[in-house]
Amino acid sequence: PYDVLVVGGGPAGASAAIYAARKGIRTGIVADRFGGQVNDTLGIENFISVKYTEGPKLVASIEEQVKEYGIDVMKTQRATRLDKNDFIEIELENGAVLKSKTVIISTGARWRNIGVPGETEFKNKGVAYCPHCDGPLFAGKDVAVVGGGNSGVEAAIDLAGIVRHVTVLEFAPELKADAVLQDRLYSLPNVTVLKNVQTKELTGTDKLNGISYIERDSGEVKHIELQGVFVQIGLVPNTDWLADTVERTRMGEIVVNSHGATNIPGVFAAGDCTNSPYKQIIISMGSGATAALGAFDYLIRN
Ligand code: FAD
Repeated sequence: PYDVLVVGGGPAGASAAIYAARKGIRTGIVADRFGGQVNDTLGIENFISVKYTEGPKLVASIEEQVKEYGIDVMKTQRATRLDKNDFIEIELENGAVLKSKTVIISTGARWRNIGVPGETEFKNKGVAYCPHCDGPLFAGKDVAVVGGGNSGVEAAIDLAGIVRHVTVLEFAPELKADAVLQDRLYSLPNVTVLKNVQTKELTGTDKLNGISYIERDSGEVKHIELQGVFVQIGLVPNTDWLADTVERTRMGEIVVNSHGATNIPGVFAAGDCTNSPYKQIIISMGSGATAALGAFDYLIRN
């Protein structure tokens, strides 16, 4: 069996595996897609100590560092089940079962897509998902935020300080964000809120140049010219495969304590799949390190 088996090969999983392997213990990583969401990122400017990098480049250097430590890397393998017997068992899609004394779950998350024409086409060409990451790219420009929940309204408030104008589009007749956020939003001079509207299409040529939406009560289609659209309709953790083994929140996020431990002894979790706030590369790497040290601490006590 492994001492530490990491499920997920994004920044959280890679960091966890490196921290574990540096303790001289038997470490493996199972990853469906090594590098995770970082593969899909164009420019990264908030990974401290690296002024600018690009997703695939950062993934390559993470992988190079992982390889230094003799970690068993099992790529393009999906975990489908977790069980606890004498060891913790991870079943893979191909039927194989891996055994380990501890497991660190770092299966990440994915942004929910609107699913309208133009969204995929203009991803990284005006369509963005992370205001902390990409907000500054739209300084002085006009943008829209799709989604009027807490994350959408927070994004709009954040962006309003950077861009020229923000339009918020909410499908429901009312915003769903907390009242205090709505008050703050409505106090801003460069924000327009459209409620009861359905996003129809993201338009453009080589890059995004506008958004079309349907006014749901009149059925009328309208179009706004702008340079950026931030999609904020939810971040979905990749945790369905855990069913009811590990405790998760209503949103599906794995509940962890300050040591990265879950409710199951020996099972830890890190990164975007957990209930820790703010989903960023640097944060997920930090939580991966925490979970690995938590797992090591568990191993020397049991
Ligand atoms: P992920 O990166 O999601 O990795 C999850 C890993 O688990 C992957 O290897 C995946 O294949 C694997 N996996 C999932 N399910 C299974 C399974 N069942 N079995 C086996 N493996 C599985 N953050 C920043 O700090 N700066 C930025 O500029 C930035 N830009 C971004 C741009 C985009 C377009 C996106 C989508 C995100 C961006 N982020 C950025 C956020 C950042 O990428 C994430 O916070 C970070 O990647 C989370 O790391 P993670 O390891 O927790 O999860």
